[in-house]
Amino acid sequence: MRPSGAQPSARKRNFVCPHCEQAFEADPKAISVVCRHCSKRVDVEDIRIDAYHGVVRLATAGRIEVGKSGHVSAKVRARELVVKGTVKGEVVALDRVEVGATGKVFADLSAPRLSVEPGAVLVGRVEVGPRPGAKEEEPEPEEEPKEGTKAGKAPRKGRRA
Ligand SMILES: [Zn+2]
Repeated sequence: MRPSGAQPSARKRNFVCPHCEQAFEADPKAISVVCRHCSKRVDVEDIRIDAYHGVVRLATAGRIEVGKSGHVSAKVRARELVVKGTVKGEVVALDRVEVGATGKVFADLSAPRLSVEPGAVLVGRVEVGPRPGAKEEEPEPEEEPKEGTKAGKAPRKGRRA
């Protein structure tokens, strides 16, 4: 139904698994998939939080936005985290973290990129920058097993063309 730019609907979107940090692709419409590297279930949907949300773990391969009235207490794993409310716990973002002027982060935080607006609160240990060994966004098909931990497991499913 989109008149302009008629792309085939088979286009995939790239994600990074929040569990094993390997890149994988998924249908852009999927909200949850099984990572083909670690076989764990991965939510790929974008999450928006506008209320108190206390969980052990909040993980998505998509984006998490904590609105002004949102309060997250969790181990957060996301590709991208935008904080306009409060986040407590631990944050690992695989792409970037943005703390808005109304944002308060009381967490150990690790992300390749971080932006903090004036007025924001950020308390905790912060590690910013590319992590050694972390994969870039582009999946590199050639480097596969490093130490042969799971040699030739995971039978490859034939992809429907
Ligand atoms: Zn994985």
